Amino acid sequence: MTCRLRLQSILGVSRSSICERRFSPARTKPRVWFSTSAYRAEVGMERSDRSKVSDGMVVVGDPQLLENKKAAIRNAGPGKLQVIADFDATLTKYRINGCCGQTSHNLLQQSNPEYDIKRQELYEYYHPLEFSPIIPIEEKTKLMVEWWEKTHALLIEGGLTCDDIKKSVESATIEFREGVFELFEFLEEIGVPVLIFSAGLADIIEEVLRQKLRKSFKNIKIVSNRMIFSKDGHLVSFKGKTIHVLNKNEHALDMAAPLHDHLGGNDGPINDNASVKKRTNVLLLGDHMGDLGMSDGLNYENRIAVGFLNDNIEKSIGNYQEAFDVVYLNDAPMWGVVELVSQICSSENH
Ligand SMILES: [Mg+2]
Repeated sequence: MTCRLRLQSILGVSRSSICERRFSPARTKPRVWFSTSAYRAEVGMERSDRSKVSDGMVVVGDPQLLENKKAAIRNAGPGKLQVIADFDATLTKYRINGCCGQTSHNLLQQSNPEYDIKRQELYEYYHPLEFSPIIPIEEKTKLMVEWWEKTHALLIEGGLTCDDIKKSVESATIEFREGVFELFEFLEEIGVPVLIFSAGLADIIEEVLRQKLRKSFKNIKIVSNRMIFSKDGHLVSFKGKTIHVLNKNEHALDMAAPLHDHLGGNDGPINDNASVKKRTNVLLLGDHMGDLGMSDGLNYENRIAVGFLNDNIEKSIGNYQEAFDVVYLNDAPMWGVVELVSQICSSENH
C-alpha cells in the first residue's frame, strides 16, 4: 500500500476530498475550529468560545490568507517546497501521561551521575537568565554561549559515550506526536526535504528518531550541535559553531548534515543545501515564537507557519494567532499537518 493510500485511510476521507477540503470563502473572520476525533469531524466555534478549548483544537487567524498561501504553494508544486521543523514539543509531545515529556536537552544521563548534577546546576543558573526581560540581547547571547560551552565541556570531561546516548534515549520519557511518522513518510515519497532545527544535540535527536520511528528517512536533515567521538566511542569534541537558543536560526542551513549518512543509509542524499535554498516555499512547524526565525536564512516566497501552543493557552493565544497561520492547541497530534501537506502537495491543480 502506498503512503498516499495509507494517509487516505488514516484521515478517513478519499484522496480527492483531502485535496478539495477548503475553508469556506464566507469564513473571513477569525474562527476557532474544533476537531473531535483526529480531523474526522470539524465543527466551527467562535473566538468567544476559547474557554471551551479541548484536545485537538486548531485556530486559524486569517482563513483567507491561509487559503491564498496554500494555493500559491500548490500551484508551484512540491519541487519548490520544504519543511522546516523545530524538534522538542513540536515533533514530540509536550505531555506524556499527564506529565511533561523530556526534551532532547534534558534526557541525557552520563555514566558518572556527578556530571548530570553539574549540568543541572548550570541549567538552574542560566535558564532564568535566558528568559530575563531585563538582560540586553547581546549580553544574553554571550551568556547562552557560555552555558552551552560549559555544558559541552562537562559532557566531554564526564566521558560521555555513544552507549550513554543509546541508553538515555531508551529510558527517556519522549514520544513523537501521532502522525509524525506518516508525515515524514509522505514527504519522503513526494521528495520534499525536512530540516529539523534544534539548539540541542544532533546525535540525541538522531537516536530518538532511530529508536522511536525505526526507519531512516533520506529526506530529513538535522541542524543541531553534532558530537565527534573517538574510535572507542567517547565524546572528544563538537563539530562547528555552537548552536544555542538565541542563534539557532543563523547560518543554520550551512550546518545541515544528511541524517541518513549517520544512520548508515545506502541511498545518496536527495537534496544538498544549495537545492534546499532553492525551495522557496516553506511549511514551518514550531512551538515557540522564536521558531518563526527558522526560515530567516531563506529568501522564501510563501510560508505557512504552523504553531503548537502547548501551555499557557489563554495568555499566549493572541500572539500565536497573530504570528502563526495555523495554531494547534493542547498538544494536538500531527494529523492536521498531514492533511495540510496533502492539500498543498495535491497534483490535481497543476
Ligand atoms: Mg520546541
